[in-house]
Amino acid sequence: MEKIRLLDLDTHELEEFVASKNLPKYRAKQIAERLTAGASFEEMTNLSKDVRAMLAECAVTGIPEVADVKRSQLDGTVKFLFEQEDGVLVESVLMKYSYGYSVCISSQAGCKMGCRFCASTGIPFSRSLSAGEILGQVIAVQKHENVRIGHIVIMGIGEPLDNYDNVVKFLRRVTADEGLNVGARKISVSTCGIVPKIYTLADEKLPVTLSVSLHNPFDSERSKIMPINKKYPLDELFEACRYYTEKTKRRITFEYALIAGVNDSKRHADELAARMKKLKLCHVNLIPVNKVSGTGFERPDRKNIERFAGLLDAQGVSVTVRRELGRDIDAACGQLRKQTAEERKAAEAAKTAGVAETVIEKPDNG
Ligand code: SAH
Repeated sequence: MEKIRLLDLDTHELEEFVASKNLPKYRAKQIAERLTAGASFEEMTNLSKDVRAMLAECAVTGIPEVADVKRSQLDGTVKFLFEQEDGVLVESVLMKYSYGYSVCISSQAGCKMGCRFCASTGIPFSRSLSAGEILGQVIAVQKHENVRIGHIVIMGIGEPLDNYDNVVKFLRRVTADEGLNVGARKISVSTCGIVPKIYTLADEKLPVTLSVSLHNPFDSERSKIMPINKKYPLDELFEACRYYTEKTKRRITFEYALIAGVNDSKRHADELAARMKKLKLCHVNLIPVNKVSGTGFERPDRKNIERFAGLLDAQGVSVTVRRELGRDIDAACGQLRKQTAEERKAAEAAKTAGVAETVIEKPDNG
């Protein structure tokens, strides 16, 4: 019998589960409180031993195991590698800002989108995460670091709009009063541009911030680095963005990873500015591209990054250059999972090749 993941259940579903086990209704509230605190069944000491044993028999919490932690010596950014019950790996990153703690979480174990500059490309897609598994990352980070998270960005591994139902269920759970109670306005959902789902999200009445990974304002060039653009080209993407801003009155953030010699010319800045001016309610976030082995992409030097930002600014476009956190721990998502997945694969290959013993070197915990 497959075990039920308690973090997947909303209040009503948890009450039904508790009733199905012939327990009084108030047990649901007790379990929910302890789950939100990240407790394991053994740690749910507000329940009797028998109830805990029964839960362990038929359920799992959904709080992932911490498989690895890297801590930046530069700015306190903490990167987590989490392992789900079936062994799939995902990453989350905790960042400290002047306004509080923000966590970047994953929506899938792997990604099908194939963006050429991304660390998630090349490692096979495992599966989408459930709502509880997405929520479990936030809870596990809070517990591990003993902090209260105020902001969430779904910008880790995976394409959130390719796992739409679970992501929306997560958003409803995490914003609920009886959940972690994080304001929808303090949550960003980042997409490479799955157009039909942008319309659906706009109609959800969830005032989350939409981030669109743009990276190039020309169709032919964007298609070369982001295959999704062949399916949903820029005019369709911007039409969906216009609908989103109209419906939600929320400003959209456009992520633009600057790659030297690829998308950092004046021609790119001018076209980007033209598109932004048409949309109005928008902001551009420039990110010097993170080096990912095998991609060959390099970031422009500081002077060129500033020149690009200046060109947008001069045309009245709201623009920032993203401050980099956790540079010493490769904090950009996907990289730790990639490394661990490759190490595990190598160990597996060595095993099947009949090598008696393999030493897996763990990444340095910094
Ligand atoms: N699939 C979603 C969210 C995950 S990627 C999306 O595409 O938005 C999170 C962000 O990191 C996206 O903006 C993505 O384009 C960007 N990104 C991926 N690899 C990067 C790299 N090597 N350097 C800089 N940004 C990168």
